[in-house]
Amino acid sequence: MTVANYQNSMDAYKEAVDLMPGGVNSPVRAFKSVGMNPIFMERGKGSKIFDIDGNEYIDYVLSWGPLILGHADNRVVSKLKEVAENGTSFGAPTLLENKLAKLVIDRVPSIEMVRMVNSGTEATMSALRLARGYTGRDKILKFEGNYHGHGDSLLIKAGSGVATLGLPDSPGVPESVAKNTITVPYNDMESVRYAFEQFGDDLAAVIVEPVSGNMGVVPPKDNFLQQLRDITEQNGTVLIFDEVMTGFRVGYNCAQGHFGVTPDLTCLGKVIGGGLPVGAYGGKREIMERVAPVGDIYQAGTLSGNPLAMTAGYETLVALDKEAYEQINKQADRLVEGYQQAAEEFNVPLQVNRAGSMVGFFFNSEEVFNYETASKSNLDHFASYYRTMADEGVFLPPSQFEGLFLSTAHTDEDVEKTIAAVRTAFAKLSK
Ligand code: PMP
Repeated sequence: MTVANYQNSMDAYKEAVDLMPGGVNSPVRAFKSVGMNPIFMERGKGSKIFDIDGNEYIDYVLSWGPLILGHADNRVVSKLKEVAENGTSFGAPTLLENKLAKLVIDRVPSIEMVRMVNSGTEATMSALRLARGYTGRDKILKFEGNYHGHGDSLLIKAGSGVATLGLPDSPGVPESVAKNTITVPYNDMESVRYAFEQFGDDLAAVIVEPVSGNMGVVPPKDNFLQQLRDITEQNGTVLIFDEVMTGFRVGYNCAQGHFGVTPDLTCLGKVIGGGLPVGAYGGKREIMERVAPVGDIYQAGTLSGNPLAMTAGYETLVALDKEAYEQINKQADRLVEGYQQAAEEFNVPLQVNRAGSMVGFFFNSEEVFNYETASKSNLDHFASYYRTMADEGVFLPPSQFEGLFLSTAHTDEDVEKTIAAVRTAFAKLSK
């Protein structure tokens, strides 16, 4: 299964860098942090993805999470073909939107009404506007190392000190916007309480990844989510769970069902679109009824709820019954066990964090529970491991700060081959 050659990808990259910034349409695809060039993909089927040099990989990126049934699932593809024959967008309602909305309302505890959008970024931006409009307040609280898409209010890094006003994380984000975003460490209720003492009356929303997946996988600890629920309730602040990554991934009823904590608003993306561009935000009826046209808070989209996107989402969610989650989680158990055994055997310091089929491996000897502890990971170890895994035919997210995803299409054999590659990679690290 060893990968021999990336020549066609290198040629394609040379052409692409002149055409698109960095040769890519989303930065992480540039593979910068692992010192490689992008690998150009041609097709995928089940758990496998194939590049333009004819190399085959077991895929744990799965388009960064959406493909929970694996690539080109037969049920999804055949429905998409059928629907596409009848037109791809009407700019008028369809029954497909009702179907997916009903399913989402049924499965997500907090959602009484939902609005479909086209990406996770749109979902979080819209949810924030709604929270601000609903409360009449401007400030929001977010957590260091959580990513909520690239909306101005959310592309903010922590200021110095505890619970200070945020700073733009990118040129182009105005300071006047950044100052309304307060950033505190994840899993740190003391800082949250301090922020509420300072800004409580002006905090429209707390937005949180209920399991963080954007600093590697970092689950909540010490009842963090319930404590956020309590403090937001006491202060009239809207609690938003950003379940773009965790939604329908961590479990049948999303992370909120898994942890038994119900937010006011929920943002969805990735799995809800089954590989097509979909996002959604929803929550309490009383809040959602403030959204236009029934309410006064504006949000719209030319292609929102289009038939292809709704079909891919619906067919994916329908296939995800409770047995499907059991099956994926069983493969995740085996994968984690294999990594842990290899780490022990080759004496590689490794932390494993996990929520369902979202799995994070950190080259770190300390527990990882926030951004600071995640940042102590050994990035040289990660880069070497990453390149070996790619050469052995395993496609992983090219960053220490991203999790692995599994799908219902991953087989025992896939996991065994992956563990064999891990042993090769860890053996090199211990030399
Ligand atoms: N929220 C979370 C938790 C995410 O992981 C992401 C994307 N990785 C987003 C929001 C943004 O979603 P999109 O890339 O679809 O805009």
